[in-house]
Amino acid sequence: IHSVKKVHRIACIPGDGIGTEITEAAIQVLTTLQKTLGWFSSTIFGRLFMILKLALLLGTFEFDFTHLDWSSKAYLERGWYMPPDWADQLRKHDAIYFGAVGWPDVPDHISLWNLILPIRKVMSQYVNLRPTRILEGIASPMANVKREDLDWVIVRENSEGEYSGQGGTSHEDTPHAVATEISIFSQVGIERIMHFAFQTALSRPRKKLTMVTKSNAQRHGMVLWDKVFYTVAKEYPDVEIDKMLVDAMTVRMVLHPASLDTIVATNLHADILSDLAAALSGSIGIAPSSNLDPTRKNPSMFEPIHGSAPDIAGKGIANPVGAFWSAAEMVRWLGEEKAADTLMKAIENVTQAGVKTKDLGGSENTKGVTEAVCKEIEKVL
Ligand code: ATP
Ligand code: MG
Repeated sequence: IHSVKKVHRIACIPGDGIGTEITEAAIQVLTTLQKTLGWFSSTIFGRLFMILKLALLLGTFEFDFTHLDWSSKAYLERGWYMPPDWADQLRKHDAIYFGAVGWPDVPDHISLWNLILPIRKVMSQYVNLRPTRILEGIASPMANVKREDLDWVIVRENSEGEYSGQGGTSHEDTPHAVATEISIFSQVGIERIMHFAFQTALSRPRKKLTMVTKSNAQRHGMVLWDKVFYTVAKEYPDVEIDKMLVDAMTVRMVLHPASLDTIVATNLHADILSDLAAALSGSIGIAPSSNLDPTRKNPSMFEPIHGSAPDIAGKGIANPVGAFWSAAEMVRWLGEEKAADTLMKAIENVTQAGVKTKDLGGSENTKGVTEAVCKEIEKVL
């Protein structure tokens, strides 16, 4: 029995603000998935299904969650975000589920550089994958856009570029202060993200890749970025390619969304473009992201793209859809295709039925949406 039961060990970092609320909701939904499709089925049908699966020697799964209290709140109390052995702790898991980090009492660059950015770097999560589409029952703020017009995957370089952390300040706190913020682009770093982007494009029906750059104004790193793109492109003759300057890209996303499919961009550019993409698909509260180590040597990390949203924290009204979609991406990465499909179907049944939070024009709260998604999952059997 043990050999057909897969245990997926998940490190959960709820973080701050609505991060804790949506992580709790995601765990509830994942637990329902496990009960319905996994080993500990609670329903009679579920148990029969499991017995059948075991008889056929098909795999079944279980999630094992570890809760890690690495947050700004904890930092304010004890003076640190993560313990010295944080990397070893994370490596004991198959995936990391992350809520959001950031709180008004701590400068954002402190919380980011003590938590999320070191995890991305040390775990070699050099890809940040951000799918965007308009889910059933959700309206885009752009009246001209039809659901089928907007179906993108943004591949964000996640390890270098503008977020290298290099630079410094001289004459600090004087009227003559000067600061440098250095972007680092390496051949190796660009090559690996381009290969991932081309493979992503190949896996999609349209096989189309748009590369975003700013090589008209930035003449070193961005020029290397372009050059490597065209070199790697030669290995993927089946992918249709084009190049966009980042400023013109924002216009194209709004005016001609159907002309885009897979998009590859630098750390900073893709960060900005994916917030725009999320807003165009309905709300920043629905968009998922995966921080991937494609070599699978380290655990990958899954998180909604939104932040801790202090303005709505503690009210129980955060949209949990981005958290659920991120959980579905995690489940898929862990090899549970059926569970991932079930979760996505459940989310879309719920949005289509109009069970939505305020940011999507609905009147439900986090709990209402979460319970509705759990009920839909249970209907699968
Ligand atoms: P970060 O720096 O971590 O990206 P941020 O400061 O850019 O964070 P968010 O925390 O993402 O900002 O919030 C931006 C706005 O979107 C806020 O008004 C917030 O209330 C809203 N928002 C973010 N996430 C959600 C959500 N899940 N549901 C509803 N509203 C949300
Ligand atoms: Mg933001």
